Formats: sequence, structure tokens, C-alpha cells
Amino acid sequence: MTTVPTLTLNDGRSIPQLGFGVFLVDPDETERIVSDALEAGYRHIDTAAIYRNEQGVGAAIAKSGIPRDELWITTKLWNDSHATAKAHAAIDASLEKLGLDYVDLYLTHWPTRRGDHVEAYLALEEIKAAGKARSIGVSNHTIGQLDEIIAAASSVPVINQIELHPAFAQRELRAYGAEHGIAIESWGPLGQGKYDLFGERAISSAAEAHGVSPAQVVIRWHLQSGLIVFPKSNSRERIAQNLDVFGFELTPDEMAAIDALDRGQRVGGDPLEVN
Ligand code: NAD
Repeated sequence: MTTVPTLTLNDGRSIPQLGFGVFLVDPDETERIVSDALEAGYRHIDTAAIYRNEQGVGAAIAKSGIPRDELWITTKLWNDSHATAKAHAAIDASLEKLGLDYVDLYLTHWPTRRGDHVEAYLALEEIKAAGKARSIGVSNHTIGQLDEIIAAASSVPVINQIELHPAFAQRELRAYGAEHGIAIESWGPLGQGKYDLFGERAISSAAEAHGVSPAQVVIRWHLQSGLIVFPKSNSRERIAQNLDVFGFELTPDEMAAIDALDRGQRVGGDPLEVN
């Protein structure tokens, strides 16, 4: 079984640095696909209420028989539930679908133009105090929004989950995270297949040199950059391949060449424009 390294968060808990994401995994296929991932050896699953597949994730967990404390399960509070009472109802609904008593990590999914990100995070603190989430953090938050949360809350979010891939390397948010003890999770780590990341010379030549796929090189780049990453795939073969990234290491030159691909190119939504 692959041993995935862990990172220690600012609340003292350890998170597996590599996991499996289920954005756009069809609710009807989620149980099968997450079962494949658990069988392959993943122990960290990233879902969200809005993905509408928490039930399938829960079914796969239940079927797996894997002890709860060997799993890291993340879900997210959707944008329409930032008000305190709604947030409490939302975590209860997520836990019910997942068939769990607690999640390992609960994130506010997006800040909104309503400006209620502080209220949402304070609700997460209550949810943590109630034992329904062991760790809490945010997703898609800007430096300004994080400053506001840190000023108002009694904890610092353990994680900011943000769009991050070689063409959109998010240096400022990573530096801010390092300064404040906020770990960074990379969403869309493979660029969601929306640009020709794998055709980039820096990536294809490293893949050739190590006898691995371009996707494996990119996952390694995230890991060696100290990021937490959970690529998504529906294919059993790619699910296994994306976990098989601990038998080689990118050289400092290869890392630098991939770092040089950053051109501020988003593939997803801008957090400042979400409602
Ligand atoms: P991703 O970058 O993981 O890309 C997935 C695409 O890459 C799929 O089309 C898949 O076919 C392809 N792929 C996967 N493995 C491959 C391989 N070995 N070779 C070739 N192609 C391969 O995109 P994602 O799913 O959007 O991001 C990962 C996870 O991040 C999501 O599943 C979700 O859990 C999370 N996420 C969070 C947010 C957020 O707002 N917080 C937004 C998007 C995604």
C-alpha cells in the first residue's frame, strides 16, 4: 500500500498530502469511482455539498470497511448557506449524506459578493466546537478576505483551497499562507484539462526523463511545492496512476522549469466575481 506523506496543519492535525477529488463525478457513479479510489489506496476524499455526490462518497466509505480514523474526508459549505443557522443545517445535511458523525475538514466553498465570508467562518468555528468538523478552513478566499477573518475569528483557517496549477501558481496567496500558517490545497491541479498543460516542454521532458506520465509530473510538482493535491479522474487506471508518484523525484532544475510556466492563467471562476 502506498504511504502518502502528511502535512501538519495549524491546529496540530495531519492531512494526507495527496487525495482524490470528486468535482463533476456523476452522483450515480460516485460510489463505484470512490470505491476504486479507496481500493487503489487513497484515504483522503475531497467533496462538496454542491457536487451532489456526498451520498455516493458515503456509500463507498461504508462499503470499504476502512476504519474512520484512517480516512480524511473534506466537504464544503455552499454559498447559499453562509448565515449561521443555515450553516448548521448544511453540515447536518452533509453528515447525513456522508453517513458520518464528523468530517475531517469543513471549508466555506466560496466568498460571495454579499461579503458574508466572516459570518460563514464564524459558523464553521461553532460547527467545529460542536464536534461536527475536526478542522475548518476556507476555499477561494483572497488575502483581504483572509485578513478580515483572522481579525474577527478566534482561529486561523487551517487551509485555503484555491485554483492552482503550473500556469496559475498563486505565488501571493502561497506566501501569505506560509506567513500565517495556512496550508494551501490546489484545486484544478491538472488545469482541469482546459489547456495543453501536458504538452508543455518542461512537463513532457521531465515525464520522459523519469519514465512517467505528464500528469504524474504535475502531481509531483504540487507535492514537492508543499501543496495538498487531489486530482480527479473517473478512470480506474488514471486513479491508480495519480497515486503512483512516490517512486521518482523532480530535480531542482525540473521544478524551476515548471515554476517558469506561471502566467496568471485561470481556468475557473474569479473569487471576486462569485455570487
Ligand atoms: P483536475 O485538474 O484534477 O483535472 C481533472 C481532469 O484531468 C479530468 O478531465 C481528468 O480526465 C484529467 N486527468 C486526471 N488524471 C489524469 C491522468 N493521469 N492523465 C491524463 N488526464 C488526467 O480538476 P478538478 O477535478 O477540477 O480538481 C480536482 C479537485 O479539486 C476536484 O475534483 C474537487 O475536489 C476540487 N475542486 C475544488 C474547487 C473549489 O472551488 N474549491 C473547484 C474545482 C475543483
